[in-house]
Amino acid sequence: MYLTQPLHRALQQFPDRIATIHGDRARDFTTHVQRVARLAGGLRSLGVESGDRVAMYALNSDRYLEHLMAVPWADAVLAPVNTRWAEPEVVYGLNDCDARVLLVDDTFAPAVPALLAECPGVKHVVYAGEGPTPEGWVSYEDLVAACDPVPDARRGGDALAALFYTGGTTGAPKGVALSHAGMLTSALGCVATGFMTTPGGRFLHAAPMFHLGDLAHWVMQSLTGNTQVTIPAFDPAALLAALPEHGVTDLFLVPTMLRIVLDHPDFDPAAFAGLRRLVYAAAPMPAELLDRASELFPHVELVQAYGMTELSPAITLLGPSDHAGPHRYSAGRAAPHSEVRVVAPDGGEVPRGTVGEIVTRGGHLMLGYWGKPELTAEVVRDGWMHTGDAGYLDEAGYLYVVDRIKDMIITGGENVYSAEVENVLHEHPLVATCAVIGLPDDRYGERVHAVVVPAGDRHPDPAELDAHVRARLANYKVPRGYDFVDELPLSGAGKVLKHELRSRFRS
Ligand code: ATP
Ligand code: MG
Repeated sequence: MYLTQPLHRALQQFPDRIATIHGDRARDFTTHVQRVARLAGGLRSLGVESGDRVAMYALNSDRYLEHLMAVPWADAVLAPVNTRWAEPEVVYGLNDCDARVLLVDDTFAPAVPALLAECPGVKHVVYAGEGPTPEGWVSYEDLVAACDPVPDARRGGDALAALFYTGGTTGAPKGVALSHAGMLTSALGCVATGFMTTPGGRFLHAAPMFHLGDLAHWVMQSLTGNTQVTIPAFDPAALLAALPEHGVTDLFLVPTMLRIVLDHPDFDPAAFAGLRRLVYAAAPMPAELLDRASELFPHVELVQAYGMTELSPAITLLGPSDHAGPHRYSAGRAAPHSEVRVVAPDGGEVPRGTVGEIVTRGGHLMLGYWGKPELTAEVVRDGWMHTGDAGYLDEAGYLYVVDRIKDMIITGGENVYSAEVENVLHEHPLVATCAVIGLPDDRYGERVHAVVVPAGDRHPDPAELDAHVRARLANYKVPRGYDFVDELPLSGAGKVLKHELRSRFRS
């Protein structure tokens, strides 16, 4: 099993179907595969050998999609760079994965000279931008035009396919080593449910492709030989324009991104008229936001995925029909490739309905954290990956993710799940969005604190919010304080950075 395998089938079946679209550039599978094989030849001509890491520091584009296939085609290893990283983090990432070649677009080209000074392992810079190629760099388009295509290495299985860095939501990102077989096992399992792709459809990469939340769709959409459309970055106006313009059928968004789109002044449900499938994942979905989406888009199949980078990434899915039933607010059931359990700290399975740590095993598990065997051994025990997420399974096997263990608030000995309190606050009309965190408290150990972005100009009175929450939740879950902010700090993957909020509001 190797990552380029689905491409060969897509070429056989749909040689004339459009494979990639970026702006006004559209290329069919025949052209796409030719360009991939030539780019792979180009990488080889630069001295890239089996197992070498090739880093991509760029916004989403069709070239990003091409390099995703060309790197494994050349038997090298993908190493996408988080485009929100500050320079020292990029330096860390490039050195950590020991990247030999760095592909870069116009947005990040200015950063390269400083990076090269700090990253001696990078031997070549491939310029995948639109302007003239800077001195000493290699032009992406020249490589594609001038290099002979090489045959696909067709190597994979348990070999290292990619190094992805985790979202960095809880601290410094960790390099995650994923294998070809692991990524394909996950994609095959997810696609087998019928929830994840519309055969013959068009998927829009609107979320950043360096994050596996989005990139997993590259693998899944490849399996069904679908067209993949890119916009450079998550931008609600560009997204709203791209949906009708390119006939997009399938879309993935992190819940915070969905909220930004629905709250955008240009939002018009008509833009979603052709959409068939909306997959959301990577962070808790507030009930109120899910309800809004189903009301606005009754024709769209809603799908939730739960997982993590370390798991290639999805392990449970909530399909469209379950969105109409009693399990609507769950994270769904185990996908066919993953076993999912909930365990107590001693590792024993807890009874159904009891909260514990979510664990999983199967062929989708990471090979390990890159260069961090002790950390790997801490989380993968007896073949089970410990997710660090708290949740419970109900009698029917639906998983409810209640919180990250690190975000749970323990106040006076009681556990408060931040997501539950956020859900209730989100129902209040004066709350645009919010995050609930634990702050140190002399008496109770921690106290519940809410950071709220008000909807509209009026700051809600804390007493109003207090009354709203008190009417719905037990006393110990009610925030003891409120802060109002213009926006929440988000990671590059679009997740709320609660550790930043905790340090900001600690005093
Ligand atoms: P880091 O590990 O660097 O702190 P991260 O955990 O955000 O960052 P990812 O691998 O992108 O990195 O995210 C996985 C986490 O996202 C899960 O452990 C879980 O907490 C959260 N998550 C993913 N999907 C869902 C979901 N459907 N519902 C609730 N939470 C989710
Ligand atoms: Mg994590």
